[in-house]
Amino acid sequence: MTQPPKPNYDYEVNRLVGAYEKAIEEILRELNRLDLNNFSRANQLATLKSIGEILNELNVEAGELARASIEKAVKDGIISAIMSLGIAETVQAAETLVKFNRINKELVAAAVADTQSDLLAVTRNVDNKVRATVRRVSAEVLRSNLTKGVNATQSLRRDITAELRKQLGESVNTGIIDAAGRRWRPSKYVNVLVRTKMMEAHKESTINEALSRDVMYGVISRHGAKDACGKWEGKVVKLTPDAPGNYVYINDIPRNELFHPCCRHTVSPIRNPERA
Ligand SMILES: [Zn+2]
Repeated sequence: MTQPPKPNYDYEVNRLVGAYEKAIEEILRELNRLDLNNFSRANQLATLKSIGEILNELNVEAGELARASIEKAVKDGIISAIMSLGIAETVQAAETLVKFNRINKELVAAAVADTQSDLLAVTRNVDNKVRATVRRVSAEVLRSNLTKGVNATQSLRRDITAELRKQLGESVNTGIIDAAGRRWRPSKYVNVLVRTKMMEAHKESTINEALSRDVMYGVISRHGAKDACGKWEGKVVKLTPDAPGNYVYINDIPRNELFHPCCRHTVSPIRNPERA
């Protein structure tokens, strides 16, 4: 039996990360263009407007890329199930058998919506951070203008300007704080997010395809993982909690053990768990 190809989503992940990096570069360019010595309310509004436009474009582009990425992952998961079960020998042959049945259509819709909303949250977060920082910087510039000529020497003003520029840059580059309180660069966060969502969609569509063919078990892939995933490699799991036998249901496995963020493990359906 030919093994299905291992999913590799570097291309999709890089395209999405690239879209974020490009937008962030453009935002930084807008922020650098700000004349901090002459920081009027009109300037501030114009900058925020440009940044809003950059982020709106990013949302549209990222939304489309997310849809294409999830659709690909779901399709790959179906192909993987078909090949693992020996129904087709090659990807090309398996591809002709791929059908987005109702359950996989729903999976695509849900996974796309979920990924898009997480990506939107990243953009919103960057937007909020930048707005708050621009407002704070503007207040500090006004304050330093008040003292101009009194005790604000040229070099002091230069220091303030440099510090404010640094704050503006940081507002873009450390914009995301996750549930565990860790700071992320938006592009790094998007990388992990998309990779994880795609692998999840792959796994879910593999399970759906197997169940639709009355296959209720699967084997966890192996690549010699050294982390907590390692102990699950080659293990038989149930693809539905109703399946008979003393096997763990795949979605009951704790996330810190298997299918953690960026986990590369997949599941290959098998008809008979005794033959694993
Ligand atoms: Zn893993």
